[in-house]
Amino acid sequence: MAQSVRTKNASYRPGHVVVTGGGSGVGAAIAQAVASAGDRVTIMGRRKEPLVEQGLPYQICDVTDEAAVRQAFAAARAKQGRVTAVIANAGAAHSAPFDKLTALDMADMLAVNVTGVFNVWQAALAEMKEAGHGRLISVASTAGLKGYPYVAGYVAAKHGVVGLTRALALELARTGITVNAICPGFIDTPLLEKSIQNITQSTGKTAEEAHAILQRASPQNRFVQVEEVAAAALYLMSDAAGSVNGHTLSLSGGDV
Ligand code: NAP
Repeated sequence: MAQSVRTKNASYRPGHVVVTGGGSGVGAAIAQAVASAGDRVTIMGRRKEPLVEQGLPYQICDVTDEAAVRQAFAAARAKQGRVTAVIANAGAAHSAPFDKLTALDMADMLAVNVTGVFNVWQAALAEMKEAGHGRLISVASTAGLKGYPYVAGYVAAKHGVVGLTRALALELARTGITVNAICPGFIDTPLLEKSIQNITQSTGKTAEEAHAILQRASPQNRFVQVEEVAAAALYLMSDAAGSVNGHTLSLSGGDV
């Protein structure tokens, strides 16, 4: 039985990869890397403009809306064939001291960062099970592995994604589907720019000083590059990573 799963994985190539949040930052880098590797890719996000800018097939979709996600996957499947890998990358970070964090902020963090992952993985699971192989990957964060101040909702949500990843990996371990999380430290993307703005507004520090503070979170004293996250995603989708399952791949220069 185990041998037959290995045999199936040996011939597996990711054929149609869905990347959520593929219009910007990490998601765009992953989508472009997948396309350069010769695979079909569908990017998803809420805003049309950044999706169009990538020059790749796209579906407009809010990952927190289960029905919209199912519809987007059906349309993507109809255009480019069955989905073989899902990179659940769409996410958002809200910064505030805990006593200023509202219940709505908290719900928003859980909706996009946890339920969003749940929705997109569920939308592709049946076809992956039927095929006997598949790759489910979340872009979590080092905030899924350790705490950070002033982002309690984000940290709680990213810990949730890591839990979801680990649990599903065990549940699907004999199906030929692997489930893994990538956990980057700070990356220079539009999302990071919001954190920089928050620091400058709440502390009076300059943007350069705020950059330096965040960079120092890495023992390497630098930001993670989006290309490094894309390379990790390609590895996790490869045949070579067939036995990597339930893993949280830290890209943080040794921070965690
Ligand atoms: P980004 O450029 O802001 O990307 C976030 C993407 O998610 C956007 O394209 C956004 O597009 C999409 N998105 C947000 N809410 C969505 C929703 N409800 N439905 C569908 N799409 C949605 O930031 P990024 O840094 O590349 O973030 C990508 C992932 O990396 C996130 O999960 C983030 O938590 C994680 N991460 C980032 C860092 C960092 O320092 N930047 C570090 C560790 C982990 P629309 O707004 O058009 O929907």
